[in-house]
Amino acid sequence: MGRATKGCGCAGAVLVVILGAAAFVGVKYVRPWLNARPPAPSGELQVHILDVGPVNGDSILIVSPTGKTVLIDAGDTGKGKVVLEALKRYNVQQLDYFIATHPHPDHLGAADEVFKGMKVLNVIDNGLNPTVPESLAGKPAATPAGKKQLNKKPDKRPTVTKFLDEYKDALTQSGAKYEKAEPGKTYDLGGGALLTILGPTLPYFTKEQMKGGGNEPNANSIVARLDYGAFSMLLPADAEEQTEHRLLTKDLNLHAEVIKVSHHGSKYATAADFLQRVKPKAAIISCGEWNRYGHPAQAVLDRLKGAGVKLYRTDLQGEITITTKGRENDFQVKTAKEAASDLWVGREPQKDDSSRVGFIAYGDFGPPPKERKAPRGR
Ligand SMILES: [Zn+2]
Repeated sequence: MGRATKGCGCAGAVLVVILGAAAFVGVKYVRPWLNARPPAPSGELQVHILDVGPVNGDSILIVSPTGKTVLIDAGDTGKGKVVLEALKRYNVQQLDYFIATHPHPDHLGAADEVFKGMKVLNVIDNGLNPTVPESLAGKPAATPAGKKQLNKKPDKRPTVTKFLDEYKDALTQSGAKYEKAEPGKTYDLGGGALLTILGPTLPYFTKEQMKGGGNEPNANSIVARLDYGAFSMLLPADAEEQTEHRLLTKDLNLHAEVIKVSHHGSKYATAADFLQRVKPKAAIISCGEWNRYGHPAQAVLDRLKGAGVKLYRTDLQGEITITTKGRENDFQVKTAKEAASDLWVGREPQKDDSSRVGFIAYGDFGPPPKERKAPRGR
């Protein structure tokens, strides 16, 4: 009996040790594994929507929790300084990816300036060239409003596609690895941050499909989404309503905490049904205060207001920075300055942007509207 009791005690002790070890392994390894949805976030993800105004443009810098960097577009010609200064400020040593969303100068104009000032490892674009109307092919860009054209000397003004030649030359010289955007492809930015390409999908939108407004280079923009733990952001570049409606027909996760509003807040995008599916908490509009296209359109602002988003605008608040550690309801938005006027008031178009936005309008911007004269050299 005594021996039996003694043996039983020993077995009990062994059992306690085994159960203890199992509990330790369960708590340390199994529970986190079960809880992990995507890879558990660690560190901070940053998204900087750079202020490449006062004319329109987009340039968005992503810095992953492990320091990997993505630059989506580079703003218009001459904006390289602004972009490179921001890269320096955020201690970016090299760009792991440069994404050229579509061949319009307000997105690619300064790409060559960036390539010359910063090491770029990978470049992704949609592989499409803009269709230049025969009447404009090889011809100089429009004369800036208010400047008389003097034709006595050879015309050295840039042609409508000069920015694209410069981008392609700089890409070749940069030694970066080039790839064409492939919908469905995901890039691991480290620390659990993922960038997924959603568009453009085939068949590419054609000019014929754009007769109701918008244009096909915009509609074929690279659309991407950024995920980090519970945080997500949709980056539709200048996608048009037609693009949004096509995305809605695909089996895609379009929900995002934050949306970079498409096409600088153009009336031809950010459709109500698309917004309903994305259900963003915050919306960022990247546009310039001198833009002549009526960006952002009041109708878009009204739709965003109806969707209950918190709104941010680069034309009124300068550079906008989002930071997140990837937890639920956990992202912060900081702006470079306070808005001096109402964020919910749109701009009146001075120019029809239904089909002429982008390369045709290259150089076709004059001084700012008189009543809103902004200081130069910001
Ligand atoms: Zn644009």
